[in-house]
Amino acid sequence: MQPEDFPLARRRMVERQLRARDVRDERVLAAMARVPRELFVPEDLRDRAYDDSALPLPEGQTISQPYMVARIAEALELHGRERVLDVGTGSGYQAAVLAELAAEVVTIERIPELAELARRNLAAAGYERVEVRVGDGTLGVPDRAPFDAIAVAAAVPELPQSLYEQLEPRGRLVLPVGSRRAQELQVVVRSPEGPAVLRSVPCRFVPLVGEEGFAG
Ligand code: SAH
Repeated sequence: MQPEDFPLARRRMVERQLRARDVRDERVLAAMARVPRELFVPEDLRDRAYDDSALPLPEGQTISQPYMVARIAEALELHGRERVLDVGTGSGYQAAVLAELAAEVVTIERIPELAELARRNLAAAGYERVEVRVGDGTLGVPDRAPFDAIAVAAAVPELPQSLYEQLEPRGRLVLPVGSRRAQELQVVVRSPEGPAVLRSVPCRFVPLVGEEGFAG
């Protein structure tokens, strides 16, 4: 693909992979139509940037399928003024999509090399206002809490208490919960009665490795 082909491939992705599968939030569709995913995938895979699949990143990690990124973003129900935490930065792509939808995005990655890669990708795509941290995201980012919304792009065996506690009242947390091999995407809302799990779809993510995640 030539650089001029990417915008068309991106529009097709939005129509065929998202709108056709019932992603309905127009702000999410617009965000997915704006973020240049080709700048977040490894250079030798750029031609596949708009494929309907996850793609490999360095360090054995993956950039999530566009459809899952859109589903997570939609489930957070963002309106534009929120402070959002993105756990599992990877390439930085999901953080960039969230930056289109909210006022402030903090993202945290366990592997320093990936955090550095994400910083470069985000700068190249014009999202340098996203704050990239290195650390164990299962513990959240206490010094920037509370968050209106938290997105987790890696699987957890159960809801990490620290993340839940860093939500604003009525804040939303979207995360894949299950085993290392198969999970369901849960939407958890912080309520006075405790965590309310709203809905879920089957999914498959790489494990979140950390104190309140999977062992390494
Ligand atoms: N959102 C990413 C997808 C990355 S895959 C993207 O758009 O490209 C999940 C990422 O979570 C991997 O990069 C992995 O290294 C990271 N990860 C795993 N355990 C983590 C932890 N405890 N804290 C922060 N990041 C973690």
